[in-house]
Amino acid sequence: MEYPLSEEHQIFRETMKRFVDEEMIPFEMETCGADGELKPEWKEKYHARAKELGIWKMEVPEEFDGVGADLISLCIVWEQLGRTIAVPTRGLGGIMGPQVRAPLYELNEEMKKLYLYPVLNGEKKACFAQSEPDAGGDPSRMRTTAVLDGDEYVINGTKQWITDAGNADFAQLLAVTDKEKGSRGGISMFLVDMNSPGVSITGQFDTMMGDKPYQIHFDNVRVPIEKRIGEEGQGFALGQRFLANGRLKHGSRGVGTAQRCLDMMCEYAKQRETFGEPLANRQAVQWMITDTYVELQAARLMVYNVADRAAEGNVDRTDGFIQKMYADELGFKAADRCLQVHGGIGLTTDLPIENFWRQSRSFRITEGPTEIMKMVIARNVLREY
Ligand SMILES: Cc1cc2nc3c(=O)[nH]c(=O)nc-3n(C[C@H](O)[C@H](O)[C@H](O)COP(=O)(O)OP(=O)(O)OC[C@H]3O[C@@H](n4cnc5c(N)ncnc54)[C@H](O)[C@@H]3O)c2cc1C
Repeated sequence: MEYPLSEEHQIFRETMKRFVDEEMIPFEMETCGADGELKPEWKEKYHARAKELGIWKMEVPEEFDGVGADLISLCIVWEQLGRTIAVPTRGLGGIMGPQVRAPLYELNEEMKKLYLYPVLNGEKKACFAQSEPDAGGDPSRMRTTAVLDGDEYVINGTKQWITDAGNADFAQLLAVTDKEKGSRGGISMFLVDMNSPGVSITGQFDTMMGDKPYQIHFDNVRVPIEKRIGEEGQGFALGQRFLANGRLKHGSRGVGTAQRCLDMMCEYAKQRETFGEPLANRQAVQWMITDTYVELQAARLMVYNVADRAAEGNVDRTDGFIQKMYADELGFKAADRCLQVHGGIGLTTDLPIENFWRQSRSFRITEGPTEIMKMVIARNVLREY
């Protein structure tokens, strides 16, 4: 079973697969340091190779000197990189170039000079600040407010779980501008310089994945009206648009992780013997292999179908949720089954399985927990009856 990719995409997939098989997987236990980041020598090597392979600035539109790749090509890269822990799972060690969140392309020229171009040149870094202590999965509950005072907004509140906030030069921040309207036109997006008076980092979390997201407090932070992105009240829609592409990244990565875990599971099951027979002969193990194999076919078909249709301008939010939920769940199930088949050695840090397990466990929560995806999907299904 295979999603019908164009010849060009098939060739690209083979190139990416070879790169991961030959230049990443054999070295994946040594490429990252204790901080979970790529070691400098590997960063240099992989960034150089990324430029040769054409994946550097792949998501950046051509008019901004990027590759402007189509969504299918992006999914191919995310899937292949999902097969290895050679690069950090979140952020990919920057091998696809600086991370630019889509709303920055929509700034006016003056703001592009201050924010977009420096990010593209690697001179500035941004973080995305939506979640709060009491509003993660349900961002409509956010309490951070932006109140217009003359030609400035005054921002007060706390954001939590914000990746890279400690190294960021500015935040793409979502705040409530109209409490009555809430997420239906009452939330706006702002560019907030992290060195503005009143911005402080008030906490950092150690997570089992190695990520260390931050808490940021905003105390009467004054932001000029020009630093609002889009119209007042458009912020939630802008944020969701950025998250929509992110969901395909989740789906593709889940497929890649499941593929690698299936490969490892099968290889080990054939060579490991207990009670006089290879594990591969045991039905309990065969069923884990079969379930992973079948679900992997389904997940891959879903991810590439959603990407293909989105590339044609046919963006279906529910389908985006379905592939994210299904492939993220599969990534974790596959890692868990792979770990089980490996027994004790699977629990060690000599193999990448425990890392896949920890990372994929987190994807069932971040950027939309499975239960919330299910709730939204159910609402849409029920609407059809
Ligand atoms: C490592 C990491 C990095 C992150 N980076 C960022 C970032 O850069 N920027 C940012 O803005 N946010 C970021 N987040 C926040 C992340 O997106 C949220 O943690 C996530 O959306 C879940 O929110 P929550 O933790 O508040 O869980 P809650 O919304 O409180 O939900 C808790 C649990 O309750 C269940 N649940 C919730 N609602 C329902 C429902 N309706 N029905 C049934 N069950 C339900 C789910 O199982 C869910 O896991 C990050 C989080 C982590 C852990």
